[in-house]
Amino acid sequence: MFMSEKVRKGMETGSWIRKMFDTGNIMKKQYGADKVFDLTLGNPIVEPPAAFFIELKKIADSAAPGMHRYMENAGYPETRAAVAAQLNKETGLTLTGGDIVMTVGAAGAINVVLKTILNAGEEVILIKPYFGEYVNYVDNHGGISKLVPSDDLFMPGLDELEKAVNKNTRAIIINSPHNPTGVVYSEKLMRQICAVLQKKEAQYGTAIYLISDEPYRKLIYDGLKYPSPLLFHNRAIIATSHSKDLALPGERIGYIAIHPECPEKQELMDGFIYCNRTLGFVNAPAMMQHIVRYLQDVTVSIADYQKKRDFLYQNLVEMGYSLVKPQGAFYMFPKSPIPDDVAFVRALQEELVLAVPGVGFGGPGHFRISYCIDDRTLAGSLEGFRKTARKYGLK
Ligand code: PLP
Repeated sequence: MFMSEKVRKGMETGSWIRKMFDTGNIMKKQYGADKVFDLTLGNPIVEPPAAFFIELKKIADSAAPGMHRYMENAGYPETRAAVAAQLNKETGLTLTGGDIVMTVGAAGAINVVLKTILNAGEEVILIKPYFGEYVNYVDNHGGISKLVPSDDLFMPGLDELEKAVNKNTRAIIINSPHNPTGVVYSEKLMRQICAVLQKKEAQYGTAIYLISDEPYRKLIYDGLKYPSPLLFHNRAIIATSHSKDLALPGERIGYIAIHPECPEKQELMDGFIYCNRTLGFVNAPAMMQHIVRYLQDVTVSIADYQKKRDFLYQNLVEMGYSLVKPQGAFYMFPKSPIPDDVAFVRALQEELVLAVPGVGFGGPGHFRISYCIDDRTLAGSLEGFRKTARKYGLK
C-alpha cells in the first residue's frame, strides 16, 4: 500500500457528488447522453457574462508586460482594492485592499483560513446538512469537525450551537445561500449566530471566527437582500469565489476578506498570505485577477436560475415531494419518500435521473438536486421523478 492511510480512507468514504457524476458518465455512454438526466454537479450551465469575454479579449489584445510573472502572494493590489470596494458597497463597511487575499477559489480560501487558525485537535463547527468537502478541509489542517443539527427549515439550532461551542472551538463555517438546500439565512439568524459566538468568546476568553463561505452570495431570489455576517461579528472572515456568480469554476478565482476591525487582523493576514504560498497555491491565477478586478459588480442572470427553480419546485410539489422552497444558490434538498436516501437515489437512477443522496451532506433521508442545468435536462428529468414518486406512494 503506497497511499497514506488517511488518503486511502478519505477516498473510500469519497465524495457522493463525484461518485454520482462518474456513474452518470458511465450511464451516458451506455444509454446515450440525451437519455440520461444528470442533476448531480453544481457546475453552472450558463456561460460567464458578456463582460467577462470583453475583459478577456482586452488582455489578449494588449497584455501588459510582465503580466504572467509571479506577484505578491496576496494578489494584485488593484484587484484587492476592487474587491474591498465591492464589499464596502454591499455592507457600508470600510475594508481596504489590505483586508483581502486573492485565492484559488473558495476551496483554496477555506483551506488557507483553516490552516492559518487551527492547532491540531481544535474544533470547527459545521451545520448539518453541509457541503461535504468541509470535513476534508478541516481534517487537512488537523482540526475536528463538530456537527450541529438544523431544524426542518434547515436553520441551525441556536441552543444546539451554544452547547456545541467549547473552549476548544476555533471557528464555525456557515454557508448562505446554502449548498445543498438553497436556503438563505435571515438577518435575524445571522445576528443570533454571531451573538452566540460572542457570548461564548466572553465565557471562555477565546476568539471564535465565523468563516462565511459565500460563493452563492449574489445568487439570491425573490428580491431578498444578503445580510453579510461582517455586519454582526468582528471576527467574521469571508472565504468565497467567483465560481458561481460569474460561472467561472474552472478558472479557480476567489478571495478571503477579513473584517476591518478584527482584533487580530494583521497577524491573521500575515498568516493567510504565508499559507496561500506554502499550501502551494503561491497566488491566485494572474489573468483571472486582472479580469475580476473589473467584474465585481457583474453577475450571471439570476432571473434564469429563478425560472429554473420555480419550474422544478412547482413540479416536484405537484408530484407530492416534500421540500423547502430554496431562495438562493441552485440546489434543492427534498425529503426522500423512503428513509433510505441511497436506495431512493438508486431507484431514480433506474429511471435515468441522477441526484445525490443526502447522506453525502450529513443530511440522510433527503436527496440533492442541482438545477444549474439546461432546460431540456430539467424538463426531461420530470418523468423519472414522477414515476419514482408513484413507486413510493406519493401522489
Ligand atoms: N463551498 C460551497 C458551498 C460550494 O458549493 C463549492 C462548490 O461547489 C465550494 C465551496 C467550492 O468553490 P470553488 O469552486 O470556488 O472552490
